[in-house]
Amino acid sequence: MNAPIGLPEIHAGPLPRRRTVPVKVGGVAVGGAAPVVVQSMTNTDTADVEATVAQVAALAIAGSEIVRITVDRDEAAAAVPRIKERLLKRSIRVPLVGDFHYIGHKLLTDHPACAEALDKFRINPGNVGFGERRDRQFSTLIELALRHDKPVRIGVNWGSLDQDLLTRLMDENAAAAAPRTAGAVMREAIVQSALLSAARAEEIGLKRDKIILSAKVSNVQDLIAVYRDLAARTDHALHLGLTEAGMGTKGIVASSAAMGILLQEGIGDTIRVSLTPEPGGDRTREVQVAQELLQTMGFRTFLPVVAACPGCGRTTSTVFQELAQTIEEDLRRSMPVWRERYPGVEGLKVAVMGCIVNGPGESKHADIGISLPGTGETPAAPVFIDGKKAATLRGPGIAEDFRRMVEAYVEQRWG
Ligand code: SF4
Repeated sequence: MNAPIGLPEIHAGPLPRRRTVPVKVGGVAVGGAAPVVVQSMTNTDTADVEATVAQVAALAIAGSEIVRITVDRDEAAAAVPRIKERLLKRSIRVPLVGDFHYIGHKLLTDHPACAEALDKFRINPGNVGFGERRDRQFSTLIELALRHDKPVRIGVNWGSLDQDLLTRLMDENAAAAAPRTAGAVMREAIVQSALLSAARAEEIGLKRDKIILSAKVSNVQDLIAVYRDLAARTDHALHLGLTEAGMGTKGIVASSAAMGILLQEGIGDTIRVSLTPEPGGDRTREVQVAQELLQTMGFRTFLPVVAACPGCGRTTSTVFQELAQTIEEDLRRSMPVWRERYPGVEGLKVAVMGCIVNGPGESKHADIGISLPGTGETPAAPVFIDGKKAATLRGPGIAEDFRRMVEAYVEQRWG
């Protein structure tokens, strides 16, 4: 339909994805035409092989396509090949990234089996060393990546920014005729740290298709500004993430707001949502949030969608909330098996609605939907399949009956 005269046509959809140089991390493509990749990081002690294998497996099963592990000392480096082996025995082939700070050059030199087992090295140019040693140790890391034919992520973080570079830019700014704000100089230092380190790595011999860049900060507006600038100045593949995003709702909202805007602008080839888990909380939550972000924005499809109304005064019972939650949990739990057995099932749309006002309409838009009775309505729940009323459920077993119908629908459509 044409837009009314005088009004601009509304652009629905993201800007074209920025075309970056693709990088292979294990068997996973990052950048170029590849879809945006979800990654995560463990919080176990890597030297604890059993705990790390269990967490990497949980993250991979939840959908993390790359998993990063801390390699901070000899015991951790020695554990890496055993972790890889144990994962392969369980047929978990998720690429493993080693996160190195301060002594990465030494650990990778002393533990070649660790270097071999990893699929990528993460190097923080602010934490490689100081003065003359920084350049030497950075070179050693890049030479090790070349020797083992591994890609690297040059991951700048403003919490550990190269202080020499920052001081130099601050001094230059102070002497400038029209000095910029301290914040702008800090952002420039973050971007330059990534670009100069990438240029140095290329001088040493690492090809562009072996380098991914990131430049993480913990403030939403700074992150957007830094990545817009970085994307304008390089075609390296970019890893997006808001560092120290925080806990719970705050971390989810901040990460989604920052990364959502950048992804919409075509910026970002892989994402990580850095959530602080509740004590004893589920580490896989960060994977779920990353998937939800990409799926709700229409970039990728990971899981069936459950549309549920928020409920209101017309539904005073918790039946529909419980049913929506149960169905969503069931689908998430079933997906690892369903993905193999029912190719395409991630496109399933289920509706669980609270009353007659929007229930039948929303249910008809879904592949399968149920409209539960609101307060004062006849205690009957019509079920719609492919837009047509297929059954009316009654009695205390409504939830179980509907779950069975969803399973039957999946089997019949994708089996
Ligand atoms: S569908 Fe019914 S219960 Fe749900 S929000 Fe709308 S009016 Fe309220």
